[in-house]
Amino acid sequence: MALVVQKYGGTSVADADRIRDVARRVVDTYKNGSGVVAVVSAMGRSTDELLELAAEVSENPHPRELDMLLTAGERVTMALVAMAIADFGVPATSLTGSQAGILTTGRHGQAEIVEIRADRVRDGLDRGEVVIVAGFQGVDPGSKDVTTLGRGGSDATAVALASALSADHCEIYTDVDGVYTADPRVVPSATKLDEVSFEEMLELASAGAGVLMPRSVEFGRRFNIPIHVRSSFHDGDGTWVKEETMEQPVVRGIAHDDSEAKLTVYRVPDTPGVAASLFEPLADAGITVDMIVQNVSQDGFTDISFTVPLAMIDVAQAQAEVVAEAVDAGGVSVDREIAKVSVVGLGMKTESGTASRMFRILSDHGINIQMISTSPIRISCVISGDKIVEAVSALHEGLGLGGESTG
Ligand code: ASP
Ligand code: MG
Repeated sequence: MALVVQKYGGTSVADADRIRDVARRVVDTYKNGSGVVAVVSAMGRSTDELLELAAEVSENPHPRELDMLLTAGERVTMALVAMAIADFGVPATSLTGSQAGILTTGRHGQAEIVEIRADRVRDGLDRGEVVIVAGFQGVDPGSKDVTTLGRGGSDATAVALASALSADHCEIYTDVDGVYTADPRVVPSATKLDEVSFEEMLELASAGAGVLMPRSVEFGRRFNIPIHVRSSFHDGDGTWVKEETMEQPVVRGIAHDDSEAKLTVYRVPDTPGVAASLFEPLADAGITVDMIVQNVSQDGFTDISFTVPLAMIDVAQAQAEVVAEAVDAGGVSVDREIAKVSVVGLGMKTESGTASRMFRILSDHGINIQMISTSPIRISCVISGDKIVEAVSALHEGLGLGGESTG
């Protein structure tokens, strides 16, 4: 029998009416003869609300208790969805991440799925039930404590379960129609992509395209599970994320990210070990560093700039100041008003010239580039935050994404 894993995001289950709509869609799929596992997110903004509540109660909430709290959000949804499905006369059982056998590392708030023992899910399917699984959560088999997978983690739950159950594909239901050539809120002429490769999607998601959690794309790629990103509000086809795509355009899409800040350490002695002594404590503190630029050294000193998530900038600054002091650097400065724009396309592997076109377009708009980083299929520039809308629109138009065909 065909088996599909469907994931419903927060806006798709935001209230009772939408939960009934989700139930109807699940039931339709089931009645068409397919086994269904539905992974659900917390309703609407409820994860944010729980985080706000925690911040009101405690200055520094204990990570274990924070995970206890946050996992409640998805439990609410799973039970409601199961009830609504049962009302259609279809048997449904809800399972927490732990009950569904989602085993993770012990890192609260950022746990990684290490294994899925999906016996209870399979038993439910064998009995002809729809199985509803709470997204975003698992259990650390060592401590037996519940864990969460990081924001957007229900996507990872869904794709990982799809792979563990050898599902045909994974459907991600969301509040947009699919993956676009750029964020349609910023570029109204952006168009929906029919397909995008895992490789490109991984770059786009990591560069700020919010539609899929990067780790879910990694699972998809590793286990070759096609992911169909589609709207929960209508039936049209969305975007297929898969191994091979028909075309390999030089530029598939543009992503942007204004959730990072830049930190510069000035006049760092240009000697072996200084970069290590700067970045080791940041890594130990769980701070993910994105772009790093080390400038040309002059008279034995150099400047090192890097970006970190805005939410972590204060911690990062404190760490960097300690190191700067210890290695006798000139000082530390922070810029919170930056943004990053990234251009992604598989065709960059074989066709050169995209970087220079990108830089020319930005320069034509008087936009200064502060940092550059590249991968074989991506070019990213850090620019001033107040120019990001102009930059994304100009690149979308100038790199030919504004036209008719977008693959
Ligand atoms: N509810 C969690 C969040 O808001 C997980 C998810 O929705 O994927 O991040
Ligand atoms: Mg999401």
